Amino acid sequence: MRSTFMKNGKVYLIGAGPGDPGLLTIKAKQILARADVIVYDRLIAKRILQELPKRILKIYVGKQSGGNSIPGQDAIPRILATNAKKGKLVVRLKGGDPFLFGRGGEEIQKLRQEGVDFEVVPGITSALAVPAYAGIPVTHRKYASSLAIVTGHEDPGKSKKVDWKKLATAVDTIVILMGVSNLQAILQSLIDGGRSAETPVAIVERGTTKRQRITAGTIQTMTEQAVERRIQSPAVIIIGDVVNLQKELSWFKA
Ligand code: SAH
Repeated sequence: MRSTFMKNGKVYLIGAGPGDPGLLTIKAKQILARADVIVYDRLIAKRILQELPKRILKIYVGKQSGGNSIPGQDAIPRILATNAKKGKLVVRLKGGDPFLFGRGGEEIQKLRQEGVDFEVVPGITSALAVPAYAGIPVTHRKYASSLAIVTGHEDPGKSKKVDWKKLATAVDTIVILMGVSNLQAILQSLIDGGRSAETPVAIVERGTTKRQRITAGTIQTMTEQAVERRIQSPAVIIIGDVVNLQKELSWFKA
């Protein structure tokens, strides 16, 4: 039973931005400086973690390269809840924005069930910031007035599947996260769904960091280019006419 003298802690679900530490919000930075425990994932910039006070307990719960989480996705809410119930200020730090393909929603559902107090601090998502650092505005009055952000990683057991064929012509710009390993199948479904094979595509690896690399081509050419250049995750795939603006608007020197 919880001691009546002990003040309950709180969990802050915080987005760390896409990589460049300058893209952490002021609110995130202020809370991180006061934290007792930080529970973080693989995509968190090392510089953000290194700059934190030594007294903060840092717990890594990211995925191994095999795809399994250490210590397992189910254990994360328990780690958060246990520490918060000890009266700690706990930060659950996630790459980009915590509610965009980050399981942030699932984690706080569990916290609510446990009666643990929480707050959410949105982050700058890679879905928008990575194109921006590559010189690609995801919308433009002339070229794109709609945008879809889609996961390219289809969980086999998932009931909600992406309908790529319908998506193909439904929006102007398509931004895909976690799409590298399914690239060929995704691009083929877009063609099958009626999108022109000439549509420009850019893949941006490790965006907003010093190791950012951009590969530009078309739906037709990109599968081969990705193999040639050994494109790897983390990468954002941008599809649509706005990709052509990259030649004119590139600004970030990686
Ligand atoms: N919540 C995160 C996304 C988590 S899913 C966000 O809002 O950004 C993880 C995927 O995000 C990666 O597979 C990749 O597609 C993308 N991603 C995250 N950081 C990235 C980066 N710096 N460069 C390119 N892609 C990135």
